[in-house]
Amino acid sequence: MSSIRVRFAPSPTGELHVGGARTAILNWLFARKNKGAFILRVDDTDSDRSERKFVDNILESLEWLGIDWDEGPGRGGEYVPYYQSERLDLYKKEINRLLENGRAYWCFCTEEELQEGREEAKRKGIPFLYPGKCRNLENSRVKELKENNLPCVVRLMSPEEGKTTVEDQIKGEVVFENRHLDDFIILKSNGLPTYNFASAVDDVYMQISHVIRAEEHLSNTPRQLMLIEAMGYRPPLFAHVPVILAPDKTKLSKRHGATSVEEFRARGFLAEALTNYLVLMGWAPPDDEELFTMDKAVMHFDINKVGKTAAVFDEKKLAWINGHYIREADLDRLTEISIPFLQNKGMVPDEITSQEKDMVKTVLEVSRERIKSLEELPELCDFFFTEDFAFHEDALKKVFSREETSGNLELVYKKLASLEELSPENIQASFKELSEENNISLSKIVKPVRAALSGKLMGPELNNIMIILGKEKVLERIEKAKNLKT
Ligand code: GLU
Repeated sequence: MSSIRVRFAPSPTGELHVGGARTAILNWLFARKNKGAFILRVDDTDSDRSERKFVDNILESLEWLGIDWDEGPGRGGEYVPYYQSERLDLYKKEINRLLENGRAYWCFCTEEELQEGREEAKRKGIPFLYPGKCRNLENSRVKELKENNLPCVVRLMSPEEGKTTVEDQIKGEVVFENRHLDDFIILKSNGLPTYNFASAVDDVYMQISHVIRAEEHLSNTPRQLMLIEAMGYRPPLFAHVPVILAPDKTKLSKRHGATSVEEFRARGFLAEALTNYLVLMGWAPPDDEELFTMDKAVMHFDINKVGKTAAVFDEKKLAWINGHYIREADLDRLTEISIPFLQNKGMVPDEITSQEKDMVKTVLEVSRERIKSLEELPELCDFFFTEDFAFHEDALKKVFSREETSGNLELVYKKLASLEELSPENIQASFKELSEENNISLSKIVKPVRAALSGKLMGPELNNIMIILGKEKVLERIEKAKNLKT
């Protein structure tokens, strides 16, 4: 293993968002490309908002995407534990060290006082910065206030002058003026560390070489650099990945539709389609091909070549990519993944037999090229699984409302009934003969047959439909449809 160590550090306050998944995948690609380690750390110090079910969802979603981690929950590693809530002693130790070295201090300012400051800053139209009131409290005074159990926090004594520079691997050099950053809180009044502190401590303790994360954290980076400097450690390098925007150019959120990996999975997107698309949103291999496997991405990945501008989430493109992978997927695997979608609509039973499985496989073989997500499958293929399928409005209007349909179906019935069994050749030949013998266009035969068998005007190739259904069902359905009057 090289010394490259990266981490994905989700807060379990919701399901894994596609933005988070993208960050995880980019970290993973970077680690795999450089033969380094990919670490999964759970940032769960916010006990009010963190939930076990979200941890489970995040782990499951990553596993489903094929993003495996070398250290972290379920895997262990040299730097256990990987849940921040189990690392509180370490944070305490580092806070005490900062306090002893005079790099941090106790602050007893009340919420009312701070609120007054915020309001005054607002009136002046300037951002509120903590004025440093408690910076120089005498030790004896601190002791006294603490003995009186007054609520207090710990703040970093941050530099008042100078600059903090982030050499970002994606955005280039980003400079922050220290006078714009105040003495921020590192230990909250409830005794828990803030995100910035816990993250900075863990990144150095876990020997993280590169922090690759969402751009929204860029403003935290100078604070984390100050903390690492104050603690006397060497900082990792940083790379901030542009955010994912919705088509209306606001941050992709619930109101735009599906946002979590789980939602996309439930809507019939394949893992390889989602990973391909999420990577493509900010990077492409040197040949600029849009469709690529993760193996290929690992081979060519370069963090410095990740795009600098925000990418707009384009569901149409994702659907196009998904259609590609549905066509390419191993048929047995696709069958397994598709079954729940059919079960959901009651098309195959929950306890599926191997015969029914084979039927799903056969149906997929002839229809997968027509779908962009597995969610579309039941609607497209219902008639293969039930006699009780619906007749679409347009089939009723365009086919069954016509005088000649019933007669034409009768002709087809007779012709097919005379065949021993159905084959692509004899189906084609029968239709051709019927058209010639009766001087009617081929479409006046084909359309009513398709509509009679499937209730729709579009779908898999008619030959395939007929052969899969078999002669008996084909004749039964044609017979039934003959009498369908609208
Ligand atoms: N827990 C933070 C989040 O989920 C992690 C940010 C970071 O990577 O430092 O946004």
